[in-house]
Amino acid sequence: MASTASVTPDTLAAIDPRVAAFLKRCPTRLLIGGEWLAARSGDTFESFDPSTGAVLGTSAAGDRADVDLAVIAARRAFEDPVWSGMSPHDRTRLLLRIANIVEANLEELAQIESLNNGAPLSFARAMITSVVDTFTYYAGWPTKIYGETNPSVPGILNYTLREPVGVCGQIVPWNGPLSSAAWKIGPALACGNTVILKPAEQTPLSAIRFGELLIEAGVPPGVVNIVTGMGETAGAAITDHPGIDKVGFTGSTEVGKKILAASTSNLKRVTLELGGKSPNIIFADADLDAAAATSVQGFCFLSGQICVAASRMFVHESVHDAFAAKLADSLAHFTVGDPFDATTTMGPLVSREQFDRVTSYFAIGRADGARVAAGGAAVDRPGYYVQPTIFAGVSNDMRIAREEIFGPVTVLIPFTDEDEVIALANQTEFGLAAAVWTRDLGRAHRVARALKAGTVWINTYLHVDLISPFGGYKQSGIGRELGRHSIDAYTEIKSVYAKLD
Ligand code: ADP
Repeated sequence: MASTASVTPDTLAAIDPRVAAFLKRCPTRLLIGGEWLAARSGDTFESFDPSTGAVLGTSAAGDRADVDLAVIAARRAFEDPVWSGMSPHDRTRLLLRIANIVEANLEELAQIESLNNGAPLSFARAMITSVVDTFTYYAGWPTKIYGETNPSVPGILNYTLREPVGVCGQIVPWNGPLSSAAWKIGPALACGNTVILKPAEQTPLSAIRFGELLIEAGVPPGVVNIVTGMGETAGAAITDHPGIDKVGFTGSTEVGKKILAASTSNLKRVTLELGGKSPNIIFADADLDAAAATSVQGFCFLSGQICVAASRMFVHESVHDAFAAKLADSLAHFTVGDPFDATTTMGPLVSREQFDRVTSYFAIGRADGARVAAGGAAVDRPGYYVQPTIFAGVSNDMRIAREEIFGPVTVLIPFTDEDEVIALANQTEFGLAAAVWTRDLGRAHRVARALKAGTVWINTYLHVDLISPFGGYKQSGIGRELGRHSIDAYTEIKSVYAKLD
C-alpha cells in the first residue's frame, strides 16, 4: 500500500507570486488574430484544483461563432506574406524565441499546470521542460524540409515541394496540456501552417498564459489562436469546419472516432493519438526488481492518466507471485499527496468525473472475480485521490483487462509460454505501447516484432523521445507524431513537372 504524504511547510513549494497574480486576473478571453476577445456568447466556465476540488479559475467558453472568427484570423495569417513569406531561418529564430520564453517562465507554467491537473510539481516541471525541448527540436526543421528531384523522362524536370497544409485545428487533452499542445504547434509552425488550439475544458489555464507568452515572443497575429471551451461545442466546431484543413487530436478513442467522422465534411487531414491498454510482459528470466520498480511508474505516473499506462501486466506463472510481491513493495515507496509537496510521487486524478470513473472500476474488478492485491479504494482526504491499485487473478477478457481505465490501476495475468503471451497481449482493440522484460536478447526482439503496438519498450518503460515517432496501431490512432513524421503530417507534397525544351 502506498503511503500518504504528511504535508509540512518545509516540503511544500510556495505558489509563485506570478501564478497567484495570473490566477487573480485569470483572463476569460480567447486569443484570436492576436487580440484577447471574450466569447461571442459571453459564456464562461470554471476549472478546478483537483487536490481540493476548489475553483481555480474561469475561462471563456468559446463555441462555433468564436471558431468561425479564429478560422478567419488563421486563414488571413496563413496567406499573409509576413508568415507565408517568412524565411526558414527566421522561422527557426521564432521557434527558438518560443522555446526561450517558455524556459524563462518554466516555474510559472509548471505551477499552473500542476494546480490545474494535479500532476506533482516535479513532473509538471519536467513536462514544461519537454515543451522547451519540443520547440527547440522543431526550430531545427524549417531549414531541412526538403523536396526531391525525380528521374523523369528526358526533356522533363520533375521535383517535389513540401508545402504547409494550411489552417490546423489542434485539440488536446488534460493530462499533458502544454506538452501535447507543443507536439502539435511546434511542427505545425515549423512547416508554415497556422493553428487554432483547443485546450481541454478541465485544463485551459496554462494555454492562456502560453498564449500571452507567444505574443511576447513575436508570433505574428493569427498564427496561433486559442479557443477555450467544451469539446462538444468548440471542439466539434473545429472538426467539421470547412475552413480548417487539418485536425490533430490527442484524447479518447471514443472522441477520436467522432472527429474522424466529422472531418469527412471537407476531407481534412487527420492525425489521432488515442487510448491504450498496454501490455507489460515479464518473462521468468527478467530482472524482477528492475521490472517491478519501473512498472510501478508505468501504471502510476500522472496517476495512471497517460495513454501508454502499463495497465495489463502479463507475468510468467513461475515468477508471478514473486513479481506481485515486488510490485506491491515498490508501491509502498510511492507517495500519494499534495502535488506541491516535494515528497509526492502521485497526485490526485484530474476531476470528479475521472474519480467516479476510476472508483467504479474498483467495483467492476471485484464483481468480475478479480482479487485486490493492493489499493482498491479512494484516499480519505479532500480532492480526487485514489490509491494505486493492483488486481490479481485477472483474465484477459475481464473488463478491467480490456477497457482503458485512465487511473493508477493495473492487472496481473499469468502466462506459460511466449506464443501464448504474444496472442494475449495482442488480444485488444488498442495498440499504442507495449513492453517486454527478459534477459534473452533474441526473445526480446522477437516479441518486440510480434507485438502490435506503435511503441515497444525492452527492459524499460515510459521512454518517449522527440526524435522518434509516436502513435498507435489499431484503435489507438491514425498517423504518427514527433520526429520527421510530424513534418510529413504538417506538409502537403506538390509534384512539379517542367518542360525543358
Ligand atoms: P479524455 O478522455 O482524455 O478526457 P477526451 O477525448 O474526452 O479525452 O477529450 C480530449 C479533447 O477532446 C478535449 O479537448 C475535449 O474538449 C475534446 N473533445 C471532446 N469531445 C469532442 C468532440 N465531440 N469534438 C471535438 N473535440 C472534443
